[in-house]
Amino acid sequence: MIAYHCDGCGLEMQKGDLRYTVTVEVRAAYDELEISLADLVRDHRSEILALIARMRRSDAQTLEEQVYKRITLDLCPTCQRAYIRNPLRFHPEQGGAAGPVDIDGFLRSLGYGDNEV
Ligand SMILES: [Zn+2]
Repeated sequence: MIAYHCDGCGLEMQKGDLRYTVTVEVRAAYDELEISLADLVRDHRSEILALIARMRRSDAQTLEEQVYKRITLDLCPTCQRAYIRNPLRFHPEQGGAAGPVDIDGFLRSLGYGDNEV
């Protein structure tokens, strides 16, 4: 049996339960380089050696995360509501009191499936 845990509140969700996946990609942003003749003729050796020395003092994961990091979250419906309201200040308890989403009831209201409740 496949089960998921909400990364916001820890709620266990079974396969088939309504859940949400959030993918966050954090990338270093670089402006377009403007290279002049002075840049081309300058001796970059000392800069490169200093950069290599700094990289040797850092661990590989830290270096990688300075450039790119992908984060994937599974969220329950309550935490999804909280997340989309304020992704930068997400707190699961802000999900609101709307309760669990009755997706089957929603589909029945559209005329799909069994209309008996
Ligand atoms: Zn949750």
